[in-house]
Amino acid sequence: MILDLLFPNRCIHCNRIIDSELLVCDLCFSQIHFTHYNYFENNPVKEKCLLFFPVENTFALIQFEEESLSRKIIHDLKYRSREKAGKILAEWTTERLEFEDEKPDLLVSVPLHPKKLKERGYNQLHLFTETLSSYYKIPFDHQLIKRNHYSKAQALKDKKHRLESINTFSATYPITGKHILLIDDVFTTGNTISSVAWEILNAGNNKVSVLVMAVDV
Ligand SMILES: [Zn+2]
Repeated sequence: MILDLLFPNRCIHCNRIIDSELLVCDLCFSQIHFTHYNYFENNPVKEKCLLFFPVENTFALIQFEEESLSRKIIHDLKYRSREKAGKILAEWTTERLEFEDEKPDLLVSVPLHPKKLKERGYNQLHLFTETLSSYYKIPFDHQLIKRNHYSKAQALKDKKHRLESINTFSATYPITGKHILLIDDVFTTGNTISSVAWEILNAGNNKVSVLVMAVDV
């Protein structure tokens, strides 16, 4: 209580004093660009995923634009110890996404490399995933996929791809017959989520859907 008086919670955008549970004030909230994607219909994330792997459904909460408030929110979540932003983003998601009778079986977020996890102190996707898990009553598993070393792609002839680092992931136990909802923060090229998706698809007779906080396509 005393801390609240000394260091009141402020809107991350305009610095106005706001309720301790909030991230932005009402005025700034109205400037956030929500995507309004329908999880069950075609959308830019689905189109891009389909170039890489067979995806069932996709959802993205906000648009990740240059100089936008969305960018600031994700940046705070990842780099300014604003772990609670994950919970708030999850609440905004639950207000906009219904699985109807096609609920996934398991929520799996993209893991950080252990070195990065140590630097940051938390995985910015965990609180987001856990909040969704308790709202939708779908279990989550932070252990299923682990991130291995970064390796360079050398064999590809395409220059753009040749220079890109590839994240490698592996499943830590056998899994089959599951519809897994993969969760990540920002969707850009789709490379990372595709690597994780293939790990799950190759592990057994599984299905994959995708949920991202922000989309930058
Ligand atoms: Zn504000």
